[in-house]
Amino acid sequence: MKVSDILAQSGKAFPSLEIVPPLRGLTKDELLESIAPFMEFSPKYINVTSHRDEFEFRESPDGTFSRHLVRNRISETTVCTAIMSKYNIETVPHIICAGATAEEIESKLDNLEFLGINNIVALRGDSITGEKRFTPTPGGYRYASELVEGIRQYQGSANYQRKRKEERYFCIGVGGYPEKHFEAANIETDIANLKKKVDAGADYVITQMFFDNNVYYDFVRRCREAGITVPIIPGLKPLSTARQINLLPESFSLDIPIELTSEIVKAGEDKEAVYKIGTEWCAMQCKDLIAHGVPAVHFYTMGKSRNIVNILKECF
Ligand code: FAD
Repeated sequence: MKVSDILAQSGKAFPSLEIVPPLRGLTKDELLESIAPFMEFSPKYINVTSHRDEFEFRESPDGTFSRHLVRNRISETTVCTAIMSKYNIETVPHIICAGATAEEIESKLDNLEFLGINNIVALRGDSITGEKRFTPTPGGYRYASELVEGIRQYQGSANYQRKRKEERYFCIGVGGYPEKHFEAANIETDIANLKKKVDAGADYVITQMFFDNNVYYDFVRRCREAGITVPIIPGLKPLSTARQINLLPESFSLDIPIELTSEIVKAGEDKEAVYKIGTEWCAMQCKDLIAHGVPAVHFYTMGKSRNIVNILKECF
C-alpha cells in the first residue's frame, strides 16, 4: 500500500520508523532482531536509509593509484527485502542522487518494481568525507527535485507500464527542513525549493528532526502559505547522549532549546539520567504533535530501539 493512501485512510496519527542499514559484517538475523521490538506496534511501514559507498585511492610503489572500498553499508533494497520477507510489512527505501548516474538510479527503480516496492523517499544526499560541498555525479541529478522528476518519467517494464495507465506507480516522499537546509540562503528560498519537489510530483514531506514543536508548526504554516498542500510528517529523534547537544546541531544544522540543554548539562555524567531526559522530551513533543492533529510521527531510530519503544508505548 502506498504511504499516501495510508496517510489518507488512517484517520489518526501513527508512528513511522526509519532505520539505517548495517555496515558490512552484521548478519541479516542481527538486523531483523534489532527491529523486532518495533513489531508489537504493528508499524504500517519501515523506512530504510540509503548511503553511498566510500572509497579511497592508494598509491602503489610504481606510482599508480588504485581504488579501495573503505566503508559500505548493506543496500537499502537488500534490507527492505529482508524486512518484507520476515515481517510482511511495507518498506520505504530512500533513494539518493549522490554517487549515482540517472541510469544507475533507473536500474534501482527496476529492482524496486521487480520486488513490488512502490514507495520511495527521494533525496539529494550529502558530500562525502573530504568534499567541501555536494558535487553531483556526472550524468546524475543535482537536486532532489530533479530526482523526483526522473522518477516520475521512469518508464520501467511492461508490468509497470500497465500499472501506469491506472496510477503513478511510485509514491514519493521528500525531505523538508523546519530550521532550513544548511546550504539555503534563507527559509523562504528553501521552502520555494521544497515546492519544486512537490510540483515535480512528490506526494508528501518528512521533516528533518527538531526539538521545538513551534518550529515545526511555523514551518507548516509557511509551507501552506507557499502553496504546498501535501502532508508534512514531523521527524523526531530522542536525544540519547550528552554529546549530542553539540553533535546534532553541527550535523543537522538545528537548535536544541535551552530548557532541554540545561537539563542535560545538569545531569552531567549520569548517562541513564541523560537518556531518560531525552526520551521524556521526545515523548512530550510526540504527544503535543498528535494533539495538534499531525498525520504521523516519523522517528529517526538510528538503529536504537529502547527509547523509541518507550515513546511509542506512551504515545500510541
Ligand atoms: P534538495 O531538496 O536537493 O536540497 C538541497 C539544497 O539545495 C537545499 O539547500 C535547497 O534549498 C537547495 N535547492 C534545492 N533545489 C534547488 C534548485 N532547483 N536550485 C537551487 N537550489 C536548490 N541522506 C542520505 O544520504 N541518505 C538518506 O537516506 C537520507 N534520508 C533523509 C531523510 C529525511 C527525512 C531527511 C530530511 C534527510 C535525509 N537525508 C539522507 C539527508 C539529505 O540527503 C541531506 O539533508 C541533503 O543535504 C539534502 O537533501 P534534500 O533531498 O533535502 O536536497
